[in-house]
Amino acid sequence: MNGLCGNLLNPPFSHIYIERDITDHPNTIKILSHFPKSRQVLIKHYKDIFCRSRQNYSLQKQSQNLILAKKRSPFIYQGSPLCQNFGNPNFYYANMAINCVFHCEYCYLQGMYPSANIVVFVNLEDIFDDVRMLLKNCPVYLCISYDTDLLALEKFLGFSEKWFEFAGFYPHLTVELRTKSANWSSLEKFTPQENIILAWTLSCDRVWEKYEHGTPSPMQRLNCIEKALAKGFQVRICFDPIIYIKDWEKQYRELIETVFLKLPADKIKDVSMGSFRIPCGYLKNMRKNKPYSSIINYPFRAANDVYTYPSDLSDKMNSYIHGLLKKYIPEEKIFLWNN
Ligand code: SF4
Repeated sequence: MNGLCGNLLNPPFSHIYIERDITDHPNTIKILSHFPKSRQVLIKHYKDIFCRSRQNYSLQKQSQNLILAKKRSPFIYQGSPLCQNFGNPNFYYANMAINCVFHCEYCYLQGMYPSANIVVFVNLEDIFDDVRMLLKNCPVYLCISYDTDLLALEKFLGFSEKWFEFAGFYPHLTVELRTKSANWSSLEKFTPQENIILAWTLSCDRVWEKYEHGTPSPMQRLNCIEKALAKGFQVRICFDPIIYIKDWEKQYRELIETVFLKLPADKIKDVSMGSFRIPCGYLKNMRKNKPYSSIINYPFRAANDVYTYPSDLSDKMNSYIHGLLKKYIPEEKIFLWNN
């Protein structure tokens, strides 16, 4: 059956939908140059494709198409209380792409959007203008890779590079680029900057094998992080989300030991940790799409419209993992998300 599906499905990005308004945008032209064989379809608005009714998320995920669109206001959003601000009061995020080439079974994007296709907003300059406006009033902490994995798309997008260039002009801007990729070939071209933090999410081997489909292995990510540290990049390690699995203590202990055996702890900017949490509405959508997923169908507890593990379990996991991290990293550098 898998073979049959494999033959019937189109290869990734076989179709690229392009909003008429941005056909001449330099980023559109550059992105299209990477996919000469794709069929191009002009559209009026990305939502005409992205928000169609009765889409099959799982099937689309196996054969993703690309949609090039124009981002309309708002360009910048307040950071969510479900994410950490690392002590930065002016915490914002920007999304210049929606959806991801990886397929983590626990990813909230599956519950947030009706389609698995990837949308790229090509008009980065409008986001930059809004950041400049914000910077007139206060320092800004901006996360740019929440609703996608920007570094995994870098080879055809080039947006991370543009953020490196932009942030170089604004010392009061701090940018976090979060990733599960191991894309060193892109990173090695950039010059490390104090105000750009490369944040890698790391999971234990069992979570990676079972739930993080298509992502580089934890060891591949570690190899990339090692090179990034050696080159002088600001690096954050995110043990987030922590997932409750069989033998979780052993699995996370081994992960943390491996990480600090390989990486120089004193070079790491900081570390974040937090157990799995998700808005109730998103999880409801995910359960409809994946009724047999053990990770999604765990009996979470709901409070304030957010599902989390029962508090005794999340307290136990947090305290155990925090205790392990403290052996390697000063406490003030460990950021814990807690409900
Ligand atoms: S890498 Fe991040 S954005 Fe991509 S599927 Fe996994 S959790 Fe979602």
